[in-house]
Amino acid sequence: MSNKSETVIRIHGAGLQIGREAITVANEGTTILLDYGVLMTDRKPEFPERVTPSSINAIFLSHAHLDHSGGLPLLFLRGGPPIYTTTLTAKISELLIEDMLNISRYYVPYEELELKEMLDHVHPITFNQKMHIKNIELEGLNAGHIPGSLMAKIRTKNSNILFTGDFNTTDTRLLNGAKADLSDVDALIMESTYASTDHPERGQLERDFAAKVKEVVEGGGIALVPAFAVGRSQEIVTVLRAQNYDGPIYLDGMAREAAKIMSGFPKYIKNYDEFRKIIKSVRLVKGNRERLKAIQKPGVVVTPAGMLRGGAVIFYLEHLIKDHKNGIFLVSFQIPGTPGRVLLDTGKIAVDGKLVDASDMTYFFDFSAHSGRKELIDFVRQLKGGAKVILIHGEPETTKAFQGTLNEMGIDAIAANNGDSFSL
Ligand SMILES: [Zn+2]
Ligand SMILES: [Zn+2]
Repeated sequence: MSNKSETVIRIHGAGLQIGREAITVANEGTTILLDYGVLMTDRKPEFPERVTPSSINAIFLSHAHLDHSGGLPLLFLRGGPPIYTTTLTAKISELLIEDMLNISRYYVPYEELELKEMLDHVHPITFNQKMHIKNIELEGLNAGHIPGSLMAKIRTKNSNILFTGDFNTTDTRLLNGAKADLSDVDALIMESTYASTDHPERGQLERDFAAKVKEVVEGGGIALVPAFAVGRSQEIVTVLRAQNYDGPIYLDGMAREAAKIMSGFPKYIKNYDEFRKIIKSVRLVKGNRERLKAIQKPGVVVTPAGMLRGGAVIFYLEHLIKDHKNGIFLVSFQIPGTPGRVLLDTGKIAVDGKLVDASDMTYFFDFSAHSGRKELIDFVRQLKGGAKVILIHGEPETTKAFQGTLNEMGIDAIAANNGDSFSL
């Protein structure tokens, strides 16, 4: 017999993997779904374990990245539950999901209609706003990951849960770091993307990055910065200007669209006036003719995709790879199996079906939007004794090793797998 007031957390996706995040929290007949993402593999999109939309009372969407939002339209084939998220997250999710539908080389099992239905169910919330879904209270907190991103504090009849989504406790140019009061938290559902890596000190990282970019540009080259469309691209542009790079910067693809959308949401950008000014100083590029123009003279091109898997970056690579005075600047975590990871590990990249050596023109700078190992440990340390840590959203080795670290510290932590349930 299960305790009537117990709270059950179930991992439907992002267990021992980065992608297709989905978790349910259920208490006394009320169920909240946290994110419902997609995992884009080389073969096909993979979605989380099935959930029955009619069994869900509300959805909390932490942020717009597809690994958190990309499965949601599947739940809106016929109506669906309310989605609590920020307006900015809803707008950027629309941009990213539409792009997946339009350019995806794979079959996606939903269409525009379901996306529209999903967007019609959005109930905007903002930082520190509390919502009641029957017997469960939901509060959105700044996650510091990308503009508009939230963590969730969930209070049920018998326990308090903090769900981090993707979060960064360090201040960046664009965002204030995430903060939360963990003193009353019984279970922490936490991402572990960078649980094995300490990030470099931010100020030094910015200076080193800007110096190398300037060196390439002053040497007559193009600094190509493949970056995630949402968050990283805008951060990189802001960093370059803040570090007094005053040459041309081109922003391409969805990074351009995302920057335009973000410009409409001052509340979610740290130094909004400065951000507006910087985005105005950047040239927005669309189409191959403008792309060719952008690389006629030395400068910086910031463009998706961040791991070199599709997007406008492919066009630039084909043109820039031949001349090694140009530079390829990887500025984020590269998931194993992606062309970006292959380039980082082997120095080689496939262009036009041929493997080309680019080791002498490739640079890596760890501009993470995720908490690093030290920050994750500091965060967990704020928990009261006896609290449970459920680790998700990481490579299996990373997350398992981090579980070991926390266990050695006397913390009840687990590297959760898909299908795992936890009762509180
Ligand atoms: Zn994310
Ligand atoms: Zn994520």
